[in-house]
Amino acid sequence: MASSSYKYTQTLMGTEVSLILFEPDEIAAQTVFNSIKILEDKLTVNRPESEVMSINLAAGQHPVKVSPPVYSLIEQAVKVSLHFTDYFNLAIGPVVKLWKIGFKGYQVPNSEQIKQQLLLTNPRYIELDANTYSVFLKKAGMKIDLGAIAKGYIADVVKHILHQYHIYQAIINLGGNVLTLGHSPINDNGYWHVGLRKPFSHHNELAGIVKVKNKSIVTSGIYERFFMQNDILYHHIFNPLTGYPLNNELESVTIISNTSLEGDIYSTILYGLGVLKGSEYLKKNRHLSAIFLLKNKTIKLVNCDNFSFQLLDDEYEIV
Ligand code: ADP
Ligand code: MG
Repeated sequence: MASSSYKYTQTLMGTEVSLILFEPDEIAAQTVFNSIKILEDKLTVNRPESEVMSINLAAGQHPVKVSPPVYSLIEQAVKVSLHFTDYFNLAIGPVVKLWKIGFKGYQVPNSEQIKQQLLLTNPRYIELDANTYSVFLKKAGMKIDLGAIAKGYIADVVKHILHQYHIYQAIINLGGNVLTLGHSPINDNGYWHVGLRKPFSHHNELAGIVKVKNKSIVTSGIYERFFMQNDILYHHIFNPLTGYPLNNELESVTIISNTSLEGDIYSTILYGLGVLKGSEYLKKNRHLSAIFLLKNKTIKLVNCDNFSFQLLDDEYEIV
């Protein structure tokens, strides 16, 4: 049993990215960080240039050829958007850019502005060409935004890179997206112990600990990026139909799944579905598990065969 762990960290994608290994491997860690940088540069919409920005800037004008991984991620996001129209929409960009939640100049826009931008969010106006890897946004002003899934996709790529270095036991943490590889060499029974942050806590207190083997853990919550105005909390997960932040009984949803991309997609969707519809959905999709934290301080666990949860904060109660 290995006794030491080696932690490598860098600030990337606006968050602290960390990698925990059980044999020192500076080269693998550097390769991971460089790859994350390269992917972030392709996928971001928070800088003037990226592959996704090229698509957005050419909206209403012409298709843009992108690299195969970016094409494949967009293709998957389009599929999800067409299937879960009420909850997930990669074409939500104009709404995100209008509110600027989590960025300088955030605001509550007026309803007319929101209505205008919503007209530019129909995912059916995204034309894909798999032969040329090109993406065309058919209306000027359309913008795709992969913010809900980029980290998930990148975490899975990191896992693949670590496998190439013959590393099969590790934790990758991309700030909200945690991917565990294999079994833990340091904990009883091989379970990884991953902290679940207490919503709105100032000192990174934990609500509890999620115990898993070889799984991804992704959380979407209203406490990650938000602002308050007139006692109303505006957070960064939008209702694609109204253009306003989703308003329901949840503080957060954590998805436990095999891949981080899946976890990222479904944490956003299940946040939107809420606890009742979400639990129904999960009962038919048992490969996904969830931890719902409700505003009334109860916690609901669904499909518990893939994980266990240890409650640490007595303000919450598991129901
Ligand atoms: P984070 O890990 O940053 O908390 P999430 O995975 O919860 O992010 O996704 C939130 C981000 O996804 C937003 O910042 C925005 O860019 C984008 N987004 C917001 N609402 C939606 C939606 N309904 N469908 C798809 N993407 C969304
Ligand atoms: Mg997500």
